[in-house]
Amino acid sequence: MRYCAPLISNRSNTIMETIRTKLSRKKRKLVITMFFGFLILLAGMIVDIIGIIPIDWIWLLIIGGGLIVVIPNFLLWFKMPCPLCRGNLGGAINTPSWSWKIKWKLGIPSEIKFCQYCGVSLDKEIEH
Ligand SMILES: [Zn+2]
Repeated sequence: MRYCAPLISNRSNTIMETIRTKLSRKKRKLVITMFFGFLILLAGMIVDIIGIIPIDWIWLLIIGGGLIVVIPNFLLWFKMPCPLCRGNLGGAINTPSWSWKIKWKLGIPSEIKFCQYCGVSLDKEIEH
């Protein structure tokens, strides 16, 4: 993934960034949240196996961790709109490929270059 830091436009005081940067940032936050949810879920299961906490509290860890995994996953697939046409890019952005060129990363694979609905380049600059 080619990361482009937000740039300050000369024409106005608005901060510009590419669509790719914007969507990558959102995806990164969601994937990291999912990872922590998975850790909480794992901790719940380990605590359950070891049995150091009374059984009444374990469901909080397991269900809470499970929700922290499921909800960001849902958002990743269904709430990743193109900033211009609002078409959902979740499927394209999150589908891993067996091709060695497209890797499963925190960002958007560089091979995906356009919005599949309106055809705008993902490297087009928009307001932050
Ligand atoms: Zn679009």
